[in-house]
Amino acid sequence: MPVVPLDSPQAQFALLEAGAPVRTLPEETEEMKEPDSGVVSEAGEPGAEAIARHRLTAKQWTRFEAHAAEIFTALGMDLSTPSTQDTPRRFIRAMYDSTRGYEGDSKVLTVFPTECRGGADCKISQIIEGPIPFFALCEHHVLPFHGMAHIAYIAHEHIVGLSKLTRLVHMYARRFTVQERIGQEMADWMVEHLEPHGVAVHLEAAHLCTQMRGVHEERSRTVVSSWRGAYETDPALRQEFLSRVSGQR
Ligand code: ZN
Repeated sequence: MPVVPLDSPQAQFALLEAGAPVRTLPEETEEMKEPDSGVVSEAGEPGAEAIARHRLTAKQWTRFEAHAAEIFTALGMDLSTPSTQDTPRRFIRAMYDSTRGYEGDSKVLTVFPTECRGGADCKISQIIEGPIPFFALCEHHVLPFHGMAHIAYIAHEHIVGLSKLTRLVHMYARRFTVQERIGQEMADWMVEHLEPHGVAVHLEAAHLCTQMRGVHEERSRTVVSSWRGAYETDPALRQEFLSRVSGQR
């Protein structure tokens, strides 16, 4: 049995199993509610940004690791090997990294004016961007779904660059979510910030929660489209968009 630090997840779990009191479990004291960033932000470990996001304390973080260690051990993982001893910590960090969309993205807000300055006749033909790859976590199973996004809009007075649309996709995909919601949230963002004549969002994804567990056909894809403005009322416009984006991935 290798020597493990007393505050490591596996040591915490061993103490839990033995029925011993563990300093990080279970009640939250006033002291634990205080930010404790001096301990946790050092050299970025274990994720200064992530802790700032939810005002976690170092003790909460340790407790999260202990919970993860308990679950992984129950599932059959051996946490005493060099390869796995830091897995609970890496898992929590990976969860934070994968859900950074909750932190928003100030750089997505940059929009540019077009030549059009008002008037219903200054429509630009549809602008189609994509495919933009994305990864999200299914809120039902916390397993990834991933695929490609296409976004189209008919600009009025504002346009937005491709890099901003990539940021927009990431902002709404990097969360616990469902595919339909990503499309709706992206379309709503476009309407609110660009005030275009129309918006179309098309998302095609593979869901690991169905593929890994053998519920569905292994290569099945889920397709979701969201329409706003001219795309809701003009079937020909929808058809032009779909014919341009289908098969691109
Ligand atoms: Zn799922």
